Parts: sequence; C-alpha cells; structure tokens
Amino acid sequence: MKDQTFEIKVGDLLNQVAVDEITFEHKKTNLIPNLSEDWISGKIRLSWIDDENVLVEIEELSCELDETCDYCTKLFKRKIEIQWYSSRFTLNKEEINYANDEVLFFIDEKTATINIEEMIYQAIELETPFVLYCPDCAKKHENMTEDEEVDEADFDLGGEWWNIVFHK
Ligand SMILES: [Zn+2]
Repeated sequence: MKDQTFEIKVGDLLNQVAVDEITFEHKKTNLIPNLSEDWISGKIRLSWIDDENVLVEIEELSCELDETCDYCTKLFKRKIEIQWYSSRFTLNKEEINYANDEVLFFIDEKTATINIEEMIYQAIELETPFVLYCPDCAKKHENMTEDEEVDEADFDLGGEWWNIVFHK
C-alpha cells in the first residue's frame, strides 16, 4: 500500500485463487476530520472470489477520534477498535443493481486497484453511537434510574425533546 493512500493493486488477485494480508500503521484519511494524530492502524485480508470480485476483510482496525460529549460538551477521545468488517469489490458495474444490502465497491478497471478508504470510513462510522457520551457521562448514564431512562427515550425521538422545559 502506498504511503498516503488507501489504494491497493488487486490485479494478481483477480487472476488466481489467492489470499493477501496487508498491515498498515498510522495512515491518515481526510474523510474523518476528527481523527487523532495517531491516525488509523490495522490489518486487512484480501481474498479472491472470482475473476471479477475480491473480498476485503478488515481483521483489525484501531484509531482514536476527538469527540465532543453531547451531554456536557466536554472534549474527549473515543477509542475505536474494529474486529471485523467486510466488503466486496467488483469489476462488474452492473452489480450495483443487485447489491441489495451488501456493501459494494468497484475495482478500478484500468489500473486494477481498489481504494479502501471509503470502506474504512464506513466501518468507523458504524461505531458511532446516536448520542456521544464522554466517559463520565457514560458512567452516569449507566447508573440512571428507570425514570430517567424514559427521558432518554424521548431524547432519541429527536427535536421534540428540546422543547420540554425542566422544572427543578
Ligand atoms: Zn460528558
């Protein structure tokens, strides 16, 4: 893998039954602006499916994001560790019509390369909870009583929660 990109040559993989493993460390992506300065590290496995398809599996991935707590607005670092995530990369442009729920990307036909940046971005996005709590607020949240949990449910419904005036 070239140093500053997430491009991988897969030409050899399309021509034979093969598996390839790539380890990367401290790789930067502009798709995630709040990535901490250690960037992204991980391990991926590429597997031949047939002469038009390659399976890409993230076997390990770790990074840290600079986040703002939705509850107390404090800045905190959120560690992300992904154990497994997979996508198929294909040469067949018509596949998009059949993809259904499958996460599908395309192989660049001219250069026989894939770019896994978008895939990694999606894998990390999936780890983002609807409400971001800093460690302190997460602890408080865990200790909430049943009644408070009801408020939480209202919060999940969206904008309406903000119109409620709390009386102490
Ligand atoms: Zn907080």
